Amino acid sequence: MKFKTLAIHAGHSPAEHMGAVMTPIYQTSTFAFRGVNRPGAFDYSRSGNPTRKALENCLASLEGGSSGFAFATGMAAETTVLMMFDSGDRIVVHSDLYGGTYRLFQSVLRGKGIEAVYVDLRDAAATERVLAGGAAAVWIESPTNPLMNLVDLEAVSAQAHRHGAIAICDNTFLSPYFQRPLDLGVDVVVHSTTKYINGHSDVVGGAAVVKDAELGGKIGFLQNAMGTCAGPQDCFLVLRGIKTLAVRMEEHNRNALAVARWLECHAKVAGVLHPGLESHPQHALARKQMSGYGGTFSFRLRGGQDAAFHLLDRVRLFTLAESLGGVESLIEHPVTMTHVSVASDALQEMGITPDLVRVSVGVEDVEDLISDLDYALAGA
Ligand SMILES: *Cc1c(COP(=O)(O)O)cnc(C)c1O
Repeated sequence: MKFKTLAIHAGHSPAEHMGAVMTPIYQTSTFAFRGVNRPGAFDYSRSGNPTRKALENCLASLEGGSSGFAFATGMAAETTVLMMFDSGDRIVVHSDLYGGTYRLFQSVLRGKGIEAVYVDLRDAAATERVLAGGAAAVWIESPTNPLMNLVDLEAVSAQAHRHGAIAICDNTFLSPYFQRPLDLGVDVVVHSTTKYINGHSDVVGGAAVVKDAELGGKIGFLQNAMGTCAGPQDCFLVLRGIKTLAVRMEEHNRNALAVARWLECHAKVAGVLHPGLESHPQHALARKQMSGYGGTFSFRLRGGQDAAFHLLDRVRLFTLAESLGGVESLIEHPVTMTHVSVASDALQEMGITPDLVRVSVGVEDVEDLISDLDYALAGA
């Protein structure tokens, strides 16, 4: 079946739930045994819950995997996946990445002996040199946040495999609707379902999906052992969000591209970082490995931080807030908001500078969004 159909039906069968067309919220901690030594399909909700299972099966199906796992947050998904590694393991990490992931590597895992080695995964020779030093995994984010740089998922996964490392990809920015890393050779996909997958800014959640049964076994074991799973209420909401993932992503994509093209022509804008624009240095790769560009991108203002603050102060429809991927449009300043946990020299080196503004373009009418930015940019 095709994606739009799977998004609505995968993981759920009314016959298993008294005919309920929507997956019920199994708000229970425990399940009755059928008899002595005869547990039912579920025994305890940390180990498994029918609402969570429906979401996990749906996610696995959308990513083209064999098993999916739902977690309390995106960071819980990342932490659980990374607990597959041991003290002494090196993980090659794309140098331009989500601030929370950077903080997890630097302030939590490093102290436990799991070392992140940062490299620009767009540079094949540099990646080869780092991998030659030994690595258990490569951590990829594509497109990156907030710079919208792309990593060639197929090439980097193959490179990782040649060195005996697995490839992990954070697919939050595009969702499986626009990018399917497992099809390109990636071993583990992680998500913050908080973003596009749920899409309504009313849940924090995370997910991991794998194709390989052995990796699935390891992650499933850790999810239960560490207790990082999502609760049934949140799983229900994410499942509901997923039903409209395809239609939302199409609209986010169309609106964001229209806003990006409009900004690119604005006198006060120094540059627009959007992989769907012909001006993006990796536009060809975007067309090769993605089927759309999503709704989030960044742009630089000619007037630096003052101009950025002026714009953020004047918008009325875009909400000044962190996060992305909801139906409503958000705007933020990475240097002072989402990326404060990244050291300032690292930010500078990556190009996350004070003139940079990130938008998550929602599914409102695009004319209203453009007139809001037009008003806010006036006098910037
Ligand atoms: C938000 C986000 C995360 C973390 O997810 P939470 O649900 O906030 O824990 C990880 N990666 C990316 C790319 C994100 O945008």
